[in-house]
Amino acid sequence: MAELLFRDDPYAKACQATVVAVHDNAVELDRTVFYPMGGGQAGDTGRVGDCRVIDTRKGATGDSVLHLLEPGSVPTVGAKVDVVLDWERRHRLMRLHTALHLLCAAVKAPVTGGRIAEDKAHLDFDIEMEKLVKDEIEARVNELVRSGTATRPVWITDEELDSRPELVRTMSVAPPRGEGRVRLLEIPGIDLQACGGTHVANTGEIGALKVVRIRSEGKKNKRVTLELA
Ligand SMILES: [Zn+2]
Repeated sequence: MAELLFRDDPYAKACQATVVAVHDNAVELDRTVFYPMGGGQAGDTGRVGDCRVIDTRKGATGDSVLHLLEPGSVPTVGAKVDVVLDWERRHRLMRLHTALHLLCAAVKAPVTGGRIAEDKAHLDFDIEMEKLVKDEIEARVNELVRSGTATRPVWITDEELDSRPELVRTMSVAPPRGEGRVRLLEIPGIDLQACGGTHVANTGEIGALKVVRIRSEGKKNKRVTLELA
């Protein structure tokens, strides 16, 4: 089982690790700073040894993480490697991911989906189109950014989560569980929900946001898309 350094320290940009398994075009490490695609957040890119990592995915079991490599040389099992994130890209993902928590707070409606890419992020809401007013949403999320509120992870048990269904905001994204505990992200006074992604430490770090689009993607999917201004 790999040690997932991004969980406790999303600001970890690099680490040293040992290759524990090699697949056709992917390697598993004993520890990693790479976030595997999940919860709507894109997988990380960067470098493992001399190899370029083009994406990161969850492996078949538990906490295993697959670092997908560009075709070419693959390290061997047992090799000690330097593991380095594309930090600028990851930091944008963290800013946009945290921005979606603010969007969740700004729009009072069930969330039916979401996605975070490096250049934009969206949430889908089950709400009437006329209730989504671009200028109002943009003003509110920027007000929450400027509040400079510290974020913090909180761990609870699976049983606590079962007894508090309101902590699962995104109906289509089940929180990571099965280890007996689930991680929440708390932005005090703003948002509290189950989330296994990577976030910035303070809402102020997100910077100014733009609502670039509000569009209907279906009866229960009214999509609000944000970009970093
Ligand atoms: Zn999150």
